[in-house]
Amino acid sequence: MLEKGENKEYLPIEGLAAFNKATAELLLGADNAALQEGRVATVQGLSGTGSLRLAAAFIQRYFPEAKALISSPTWGNHKNIFNDARVPWSEYRYYDPRTVGLDFDGMIADIKAAPDGSFVLLHGCAHNPTGIDPTPEQWEKIADVIQEKNHVPFFDVAYQGFASGSLDEDASSVRTFVARGMELLVAQSYSKNLGLYAERIGAINVVCSSPDAATRVKSQLKRLARPMYSNPPVHGARIVANVVGNPTLFNEWKEEMELMAGRIKNVRQKLFDSLSQKDKSGKDWSFILKQIGMFSFTGLNKAQSDNMTNKWHVYMTKDGRISLAGLSLSKCEYLADAIIDSFHN
Ligand code: PLP
Repeated sequence: MLEKGENKEYLPIEGLAAFNKATAELLLGADNAALQEGRVATVQGLSGTGSLRLAAAFIQRYFPEAKALISSPTWGNHKNIFNDARVPWSEYRYYDPRTVGLDFDGMIADIKAAPDGSFVLLHGCAHNPTGIDPTPEQWEKIADVIQEKNHVPFFDVAYQGFASGSLDEDASSVRTFVARGMELLVAQSYSKNLGLYAERIGAINVVCSSPDAATRVKSQLKRLARPMYSNPPVHGARIVANVVGNPTLFNEWKEEMELMAGRIKNVRQKLFDSLSQKDKSGKDWSFILKQIGMFSFTGLNKAQSDNMTNKWHVYMTKDGRISLAGLSLSKCEYLADAIIDSFHN
């Protein structure tokens, strides 16, 4: 950047053009029909949170009667974002404590029961906090119900490439919906997958039914952004655009992400093996392997999580979530002992 003599002038309200192009192509695939037809409004946002917040302001202004639906549980900030934007929300069932898996029937029933035209917040991949994602077949059914109800899907994609190790695979949920011709919103973040937490770099993409609608939506997003923060920061946007636009850097990034995702998968496997070998109760631990991304829901309740902390000095959130990114292979056996003790005592 220094060699190129880049300056620190203001960006336009919608952000850096090269970043917006790169981010939409990473999300949807460069040859995606919606992109080629000019039906996607992309505005650079203040990372995932700021992009979600801008979209929430858009919902509040243009769909004042609409409600948002969020999964139970979800990333804690989703509620704050909708509250502050004055978008009413309710929860749909997602986590089933009996199976430590997806409550798919509950989810479908709650999405069906919501008022038509609701905004359904979905985690594109690596659901936070549970690590439990729908299967491709389940995504299709979710899309069916959302279409039947004239709901608008609102994806939060905070872990693209970081979950499976493949940028395309982690975007497949979003692409399934776009391929159906649906209008939808997608917030993106580069905090995790490029380690750009403090640069606050992300985007909001609105896939529309026509290029004309996309132009109008983009213009309205800019009207909302202008009095909120005027224009977004440039440094992280240049990093993303440079990495994606340079084949050597792009490949390096993809390899490093694969490595990180692979390490987390190895830790998952080792934890599962340790639990299965040590636990003589016959409990099925395979849910650990079915989850994806850096988080794992252990199924431990609050009292059991307290036992983890008080007796074993393992610090975790009280909902039973652990971060596998913070776990090394050599600590898996100790963790397994702690989990088994907390479950059975
Ligand atoms: N969405 C989800 C589900 C997250 O887990 C996070 C971060 O933890 C974010 C959005 C937003 O992060 P940021 O604002 O740093 O991009």
